[in-house]
Amino acid sequence: MKRLSLLLGALGLGACVSSSAIDPAIAQQLANQMFGAATRGTSEPAQVYGSYARGCGDGFVQLPETGPTWQAMRLSRNRNWGHPEMISVLQDLSRQAVQIGWNGLYVGDISQPRGGPMTSGHASHQMGLDADIWMLPPGRLDLSRTERENLSSVSVRTEDQRGLTSHWTPQHAQVLRAAASDPRVDRIFVAAAVKIEMCRTATPADTAWLQRIRPIQGHNYHFHVRLRCPAGSPSCETQSPTVAELSNGGNGCDDTLMWWVTDFLNPPRQTERPAEPAEPTPRRRHPREFVMADLPRQCSEVVTR
Ligand SMILES: [Zn+2]
Repeated sequence: MKRLSLLLGALGLGACVSSSAIDPAIAQQLANQMFGAATRGTSEPAQVYGSYARGCGDGFVQLPETGPTWQAMRLSRNRNWGHPEMISVLQDLSRQAVQIGWNGLYVGDISQPRGGPMTSGHASHQMGLDADIWMLPPGRLDLSRTERENLSSVSVRTEDQRGLTSHWTPQHAQVLRAAASDPRVDRIFVAAAVKIEMCRTATPADTAWLQRIRPIQGHNYHFHVRLRCPAGSPSCETQSPTVAELSNGGNGCDDTLMWWVTDFLNPPRQTERPAEPAEPTPRRRHPREFVMADLPRQCSEVVTR
Protein backbone atom coordinates (compact mmCIF):
# COMPACT_ATOMS: atom_id res chain seq x y z
CA MET A 1 0.00 0.00 0.00
CA LYS A 2 2.85 2.32 0.86
CA ARG A 3 4.36 1.49 -2.50
CA LEU A 4 1.10 2.20 -4.28
CA SER A 5 0.66 5.57 -2.61
CA LEU A 6 4.28 6.38 -3.41
CA LEU A 7 3.66 5.61 -7.06
CA LEU A 8 0.42 7.53 -7.23
CA GLY A 9 1.81 10.40 -5.19
CA ALA A 10 4.79 10.66 -7.49
CA LEU A 11 2.51 11.15 -10.45
CA GLY A 12 0.32 13.66 -8.63
CA LEU A 13 -2.77 11.51 -8.61
CA GLY A 14 -3.81 12.41 -5.10
CA ALA A 15 -5.75 15.59 -5.66
CA CYS A 16 -9.49 15.84 -5.31
CA VAL A 17 -11.56 18.65 -6.70
CA SER A 18 -15.05 19.56 -5.68
CA SER A 19 -17.51 20.00 -8.45
CA SER A 20 -20.64 22.09 -8.38
CA ALA A 21 -23.07 23.59 -10.85
CA ILE A 22 -22.18 21.27 -13.69
CA ASP A 23 -24.71 21.11 -16.48
CA PRO A 24 -26.72 17.99 -15.56
CA ALA A 25 -26.93 17.07 -19.24
CA ILE A 26 -23.22 16.28 -19.32
CA ALA A 27 -22.38 15.64 -15.66
CA GLN A 28 -22.34 11.85 -16.12
CA GLN A 29 -20.70 11.79 -19.54
CA LEU A 30 -17.28 10.18 -19.78
CA ALA A 31 -14.79 13.02 -19.64
CA ASN A 32 -12.20 11.39 -21.91
CA GLN A 33 -14.79 10.98 -24.68
CA MET A 34 -15.81 14.62 -24.48
CA PHE A 35 -12.26 15.98 -24.31
CA GLY A 36 -11.04 13.49 -26.90
CA ALA A 37 -13.60 14.83 -29.37
CA ALA A 38 -12.36 18.43 -29.15
CA THR A 39 -10.14 19.08 -32.15
CA ARG A 40 -9.09 22.67 -31.36
CA GLY A 41 -8.27 24.78 -28.33
CA THR A 42 -10.72 27.37 -27.02
CA SER A 43 -10.30 31.04 -27.89
CA GLU A 44 -10.53 32.13 -24.26
CA PRO A 45 -7.44 33.57 -22.54
CA ALA A 46 -5.03 30.84 -21.47
CA GLN A 47 -5.92 29.45 -18.08
CA VAL A 48 -5.75 26.00 -16.52
CA TYR A 49 -8.11 24.44 -13.99
CA GLY A 50 -7.60 21.60 -11.54
CA SER A 51 -4.57 19.36 -11.17
CA TYR A 52 -2.24 17.46 -13.45
CA ALA A 53 -4.29 14.26 -13.42
CA ARG A 54 -7.73 15.90 -13.05
CA GLY A 55 -8.02 19.09 -15.02
CA CYS A 56 -8.25 20.95 -18.31
CA GLY A 57 -7.55 24.34 -19.78
CA ASP A 58 -8.58 27.26 -21.97
CA GLY A 59 -6.52 28.95 -24.64
CA PHE A 60 -4.13 26.10 -25.36
CA VAL A 61 -1.90 26.55 -28.39
CA GLN A 62 -0.35 23.98 -30.68
CA LEU A 63 3.34 23.28 -30.78
CA PRO A 64 4.05 23.79 -34.51
CA GLU A 65 4.48 20.33 -36.02
CA THR A 66 7.97 21.21 -37.20
CA GLY A 67 10.23 24.03 -36.07
CA PRO A 68 13.88 24.90 -36.62
CA THR A 69 14.90 22.88 -33.54
CA TRP A 70 12.06 20.41 -32.95
CA GLN A 71 9.49 18.07 -34.43
CA ALA A 72 6.27 16.94 -32.79
CA MET A 73 5.86 13.17 -33.03
CA ARG A 74 2.77 10.94 -33.51
CA LEU A 75 0.73 13.76 -35.02
CA SER A 76 -2.31 11.50 -35.44
CA ARG A 77 -2.89 11.73 -31.70
CA ASN A 78 -3.40 15.52 -31.83
CA ARG A 79 -1.69 15.85 -28.46
CA ASN A 80 0.74 18.62 -29.37
CA TRP A 81 -1.34 21.24 -27.52
CA GLY A 82 -0.51 23.01 -24.29
CA HIS A 83 -0.62 26.15 -22.20
CA PRO A 84 1.41 28.82 -24.07
CA GLU A 85 4.05 28.68 -21.33
CA MET A 86 4.56 24.96 -21.98
CA ILE A 87 5.06 25.60 -25.68
CA SER A 88 7.63 28.33 -24.91
CA VAL A 89 9.49 26.05 -22.51
CA LEU A 90 9.72 23.33 -25.16
CA GLN A 91 10.90 25.71 -27.86
CA ASP A 92 13.51 27.23 -25.50
CA LEU A 93 14.72 23.80 -24.43
CA SER A 94 15.02 22.63 -28.02
CA ARG A 95 17.31 25.60 -28.74
CA GLN A 96 19.42 24.72 -25.71
CA ALA A 97 19.60 21.13 -26.96
CA VAL A 98 21.21 22.45 -30.15
CA GLN A 99 23.83 24.30 -28.10
CA ILE A 100 24.50 21.03 -26.27
CA GLY A 101 25.15 19.26 -29.55
CA TRP A 102 21.84 17.67 -30.54
CA ASN A 103 19.88 18.66 -33.63
CA GLY A 104 16.99 19.65 -31.40
CA LEU A 105 14.21 17.64 -29.73
CA TYR A 106 11.59 15.11 -30.70
CA VAL A 107 8.56 16.08 -28.66
CA GLY A 108 6.00 13.41 -27.73
CA ASP A 109 2.62 13.92 -26.08
CA ILE A 110 1.76 17.22 -24.46
CA SER A 111 -2.04 17.52 -24.05
CA GLN A 112 -5.25 17.32 -26.02
CA PRO A 113 -6.50 20.65 -27.44
CA ARG A 114 -8.45 21.40 -24.27
CA GLY A 115 -6.60 19.04 -21.95
CA GLY A 116 -8.70 16.68 -19.87
CA PRO A 117 -8.46 12.91 -19.47
CA MET A 118 -7.28 10.97 -22.51
CA THR A 119 -8.81 7.99 -24.22
CA SER A 120 -5.52 6.07 -23.89
CA GLY A 121 -2.24 6.32 -22.06
CA HIS A 122 -1.36 8.99 -19.53
CA ALA A 123 -3.16 9.67 -16.29
CA SER A 124 -1.70 13.17 -16.18
CA HIS A 125 -1.00 15.54 -19.12
CA GLN A 126 -4.46 17.07 -18.48
CA MET A 127 -3.60 20.75 -17.97
CA GLY A 128 -1.24 21.43 -20.87
CA LEU A 129 1.61 21.62 -18.39
CA ASP A 130 3.15 18.15 -18.98
CA ALA A 131 5.25 17.12 -21.98
CA ASP A 132 7.16 13.99 -22.96
CA ILE A 133 10.47 14.42 -24.73
CA TRP A 134 12.06 11.51 -26.53
CA MET A 135 15.38 10.13 -25.33
CA LEU A 136 16.23 9.60 -29.00
CA PRO A 137 18.32 12.57 -30.14
CA PRO A 138 16.85 13.74 -33.45
CA GLY A 139 18.61 12.49 -36.52
CA ARG A 140 16.60 14.60 -38.96
CA LEU A 141 14.09 17.37 -38.42
CA ASP A 142 12.31 16.82 -41.73
CA LEU A 143 10.52 13.59 -40.87
CA SER A 144 7.25 13.11 -42.73
CA ARG A 145 3.98 12.48 -40.89
CA THR A 146 4.29 8.78 -41.64
CA GLU A 147 7.87 8.61 -40.42
CA ARG A 148 6.74 10.30 -37.21
CA GLU A 149 4.13 7.61 -36.70
CA ASN A 150 6.57 4.76 -37.29
CA LEU A 151 9.86 5.87 -35.77
CA SER A 152 10.47 4.64 -32.22
CA SER A 153 12.46 6.20 -29.43
CA VAL A 154 15.31 4.35 -27.69
CA SER A 155 15.61 3.18 -24.11
CA VAL A 156 18.47 4.65 -22.11
CA ARG A 157 17.88 2.11 -19.31
CA THR A 158 18.71 -1.57 -19.16
CA GLU A 159 15.95 -4.17 -19.02
CA ASP A 160 16.81 -5.05 -15.40
CA GLN A 161 16.16 -1.34 -14.60
CA ARG A 162 19.46 -0.99 -12.72
CA GLY A 163 21.76 0.54 -15.31
CA LEU A 164 21.97 2.56 -18.50
CA THR A 165 22.32 1.40 -22.08
CA SER A 166 24.73 2.62 -24.73
CA HIS A 167 22.01 5.04 -25.86
CA TRP A 168 22.75 7.19 -22.78
CA THR A 169 25.20 10.01 -23.45
CA PRO A 170 26.62 12.94 -21.46
CA GLN A 171 24.44 15.16 -23.66
CA HIS A 172 21.33 13.51 -22.20
CA ALA A 173 22.48 14.67 -18.77
CA GLN A 174 23.06 18.17 -20.09
CA VAL A 175 19.63 18.37 -21.71
CA LEU A 176 18.00 17.17 -18.49
CA ARG A 177 20.00 19.68 -16.49
CA ALA A 178 18.93 22.49 -18.82
CA ALA A 179 15.28 21.46 -18.47
CA ALA A 180 15.49 21.22 -14.68
CA SER A 181 17.18 24.62 -14.46
CA ASP A 182 14.24 26.40 -16.12
CA PRO A 183 12.39 28.27 -13.35
CA ARG A 184 9.06 27.49 -15.04
CA VAL A 185 9.65 23.76 -14.49
CA ASP A 186 8.26 22.12 -11.35
CA ARG A 187 9.80 18.67 -11.81
CA ILE A 188 11.03 16.19 -14.37
CA PHE A 189 10.32 12.46 -14.28
CA VAL A 190 12.98 9.98 -15.37
CA ALA A 191 13.83 6.33 -14.82
CA ALA A 192 15.69 5.91 -11.51
CA ALA A 193 18.86 4.67 -13.24
CA VAL A 194 19.09 8.03 -15.01
CA LYS A 195 18.97 9.99 -11.79
CA ILE A 196 21.42 7.62 -10.11
CA GLU A 197 23.87 8.33 -12.93
CA MET A 198 23.37 12.09 -12.58
CA CYS A 199 23.88 11.83 -8.80
CA ARG A 200 27.30 10.25 -9.32
CA THR A 201 28.96 13.55 -10.18
CA ALA A 202 26.68 15.88 -8.22
CA THR A 203 28.15 18.74 -6.22
CA PRO A 204 26.33 21.01 -3.73
CA ALA A 205 25.97 23.57 -6.53
CA ASP A 206 23.70 21.11 -8.35
CA THR A 207 21.17 20.70 -5.54
CA ALA A 208 18.56 23.20 -6.75
CA TRP A 209 18.08 21.69 -10.21
CA LEU A 210 18.89 18.08 -9.32
CA GLN A 211 16.13 17.94 -6.72
CA ARG A 212 13.68 18.65 -9.57
CA ILE A 213 14.72 15.44 -11.33
CA ARG A 214 12.44 12.76 -9.89
CA PRO A 215 12.69 8.98 -10.26
CA ILE A 216 9.58 7.15 -11.44
CA GLN A 217 8.52 3.95 -13.16
CA GLY A 218 9.10 3.81 -16.91
CA HIS A 219 10.40 7.05 -18.41
CA ASN A 220 13.32 5.28 -20.07
CA TYR A 221 12.18 6.07 -23.64
CA HIS A 222 11.25 9.65 -22.81
CA PHE A 223 11.53 12.13 -20.00
CA HIS A 224 8.55 14.05 -18.73
CA VAL A 225 8.68 17.79 -18.08
CA ARG A 226 6.06 19.18 -15.70
CA LEU A 227 5.59 22.92 -15.25
CA ARG A 228 4.49 24.78 -12.14
CA CYS A 229 1.13 26.48 -12.24
CA PRO A 230 1.52 29.46 -14.56
CA ALA A 231 0.58 33.03 -13.61
CA GLY A 232 -3.06 33.83 -14.30
CA SER A 233 -4.40 30.41 -13.34
CA PRO A 234 -5.76 30.80 -9.81
CA SER A 235 -7.63 27.48 -10.04
CA CYS A 236 -4.49 25.50 -10.84
CA GLU A 237 -3.30 23.22 -8.04
CA THR A 238 0.44 22.74 -7.81
CA GLN A 239 1.65 19.26 -7.01
CA SER A 240 2.35 18.42 -3.40
CA PRO A 241 4.58 17.37 -1.80
CA THR A 242 7.01 19.76 -3.46
CA VAL A 243 10.33 18.47 -4.72
CA ALA A 244 12.02 20.31 -1.83
CA GLU A 245 9.80 18.43 0.63
CA LEU A 246 10.34 15.11 -1.13
CA SER A 247 14.10 15.49 -0.88
CA ASN A 248 14.20 17.23 2.53
CA GLY A 249 15.89 20.19 0.91
CA GLY A 250 18.62 17.97 -0.58
CA ASN A 251 19.26 16.77 -4.11
CA GLY A 252 17.22 13.57 -3.79
CA CYS A 253 20.27 11.32 -4.22
CA ASP A 254 19.22 9.33 -1.18
CA ASP A 255 17.52 6.16 0.07
CA THR A 256 14.25 7.07 -1.59
CA LEU A 257 16.09 7.01 -4.93
CA MET A 258 17.87 3.73 -4.23
CA TRP A 259 14.50 2.19 -3.24
CA TRP A 260 13.67 2.07 -6.97
CA VAL A 261 16.55 -0.30 -7.68
CA THR A 262 16.25 -2.34 -4.47
CA ASP A 263 12.93 -2.92 -2.70
CA PHE A 264 10.88 -1.79 -5.66
CA LEU A 265 12.45 -4.52 -7.82
CA ASN A 266 12.76 -7.13 -5.05
CA PRO A 267 10.10 -6.53 -2.42
CA PRO A 268 11.24 -7.88 0.97
CA ARG A 269 9.53 -11.20 1.72
CA GLN A 270 6.73 -10.91 4.20
CA THR A 271 7.14 -13.33 7.07
CA GLU A 272 3.61 -12.98 8.33
CA ARG A 273 0.41 -12.71 6.47
CA PRO A 274 -0.66 -9.06 6.48
CA ALA A 275 -3.77 -8.45 8.57
CA GLU A 276 -6.91 -7.99 6.52
CA PRO A 277 -7.88 -4.33 6.43
CA ALA A 278 -10.96 -3.61 8.54
CA GLU A 279 -12.65 -1.99 5.59
CA PRO A 280 -11.80 -2.64 1.99
CA THR A 281 -10.01 0.37 0.56
CA PRO A 282 -11.97 1.83 -2.33
CA ARG A 283 -10.44 1.14 -5.70
CA ARG A 284 -8.81 4.23 -7.14
CA ARG A 285 -10.33 5.11 -10.49
CA HIS A 286 -8.16 5.83 -13.47
CA PRO A 287 -8.86 9.22 -15.09
CA ARG A 288 -10.19 7.27 -18.10
CA GLU A 289 -13.20 6.47 -15.92
CA PHE A 290 -13.86 10.06 -14.84
CA VAL A 291 -17.19 11.59 -15.74
CA MET A 292 -17.49 15.33 -16.24
CA ALA A 293 -18.72 15.75 -12.64
CA ASP A 294 -15.35 14.42 -11.44
CA LEU A 295 -13.52 17.34 -13.04
CA PRO A 296 -13.39 20.97 -11.90
CA ARG A 297 -16.61 22.80 -12.72
CA GLN A 298 -14.82 25.02 -15.28
CA CYS A 299 -13.96 21.96 -17.39
CA SER A 300 -17.62 21.50 -18.35
CA GLU A 301 -17.52 24.98 -19.80
CA VAL A 302 -14.17 24.42 -21.48
CA VAL A 303 -15.31 21.29 -23.27
CA THR A 304 -18.58 22.78 -24.53
CA ARG A 305 -17.30 26.18 -25.72
ZN1 LIG B 1 4.49 11.92 -19.62
